[in-house]
Amino acid sequence: MMEKYEIQKLRDLPIEGVAERLGLRVSHHKALCPFHEDRHPSLSFSVRRNTFRCFVCGASGGPIDLVMKYLDKDFLDACRWLADENNIILTEYQPKEVESPKPFDASRYERFFERPWLSDEARRFLFDERRLDPRVVLWCRLTSWKDRQGVPWLQIPYYDREGRLVGVQNRNLVPGATPRFRFPQGAECGIYNLPVLNRLREGDDLWITEGCSDCWAMLSAGHKAIAIPSATLLSKKDVELLQSLRSALPLYSAKNAQRSIVFHMYPDRDAPGERLFQQLQHVLPSLQRHQLPLGCKDFSEYYVKRLAVRG
Ligand SMILES: [Zn+2]
Repeated sequence: MMEKYEIQKLRDLPIEGVAERLGLRVSHHKALCPFHEDRHPSLSFSVRRNTFRCFVCGASGGPIDLVMKYLDKDFLDACRWLADENNIILTEYQPKEVESPKPFDASRYERFFERPWLSDEARRFLFDERRLDPRVVLWCRLTSWKDRQGVPWLQIPYYDREGRLVGVQNRNLVPGATPRFRFPQGAECGIYNLPVLNRLREGDDLWITEGCSDCWAMLSAGHKAIAIPSATLLSKKDVELLQSLRSALPLYSAKNAQRSIVFHMYPDRDAPGERLFQQLQHVLPSLQRHQLPLGCKDFSEYYVKRLAVRG
């Protein structure tokens, strides 16, 4: 079962971000209450307590309660949903119960990425649906495997800036299946595609995306890009890494600011996307906003549509 600290992690997810993930429109810490017929927003959020409360029907609680109530799930399923949405690793997905989390054993996984292999499901997902450039798939060393039940998975390696394998993310290739993601023990799947930082030159553009799919699309479109794991969860460690980027890029110099790295982003066309952009702009004040056209919810969609127009 899940550990206490994991449940706490889910309880600490910002309540308004969770509400937005569920599709509620939050404005000025209020939303229409989904639990009674509501015409004027009577559901209010307390950012300080990280709770919601409806002053008409009395519904109240924290992030997990909101998911349970809104999606009609039991406690465990609500936790799984939240973890899935936020790339949080639950120990119940790990092969064995452990006393304390063990560090990630890269040597067990490295060989999978030395000779990547793509199943038919993976090819369909990467090349037919997402129209990715095969060179990008190769650069990212994406590979695939099937578990004992025959479920096809895409295996996504995370490297640090020095090229060391620090984490693996498995993505279920069966549409709609849960859990969508699985992580081996101790995997650190924070910011994605860090090795690209070593290829940055003065004045280069660096695009920041939400999640690795958008990152692949951005790379396939010919840009340099990294990905942030999720909108609702930007860990302290991720923030520090981004801050270090601002000041520690090899060729960055404050004196020569116009020639330093320029950060760009297409925020997803939804409230969580907007929130992520604002969080990132706080860390990277020069982050430039680009607007996705109407009808494209994220960059992957825009990328595929643009290709279709060009024929
Ligand atoms: Zn209500």
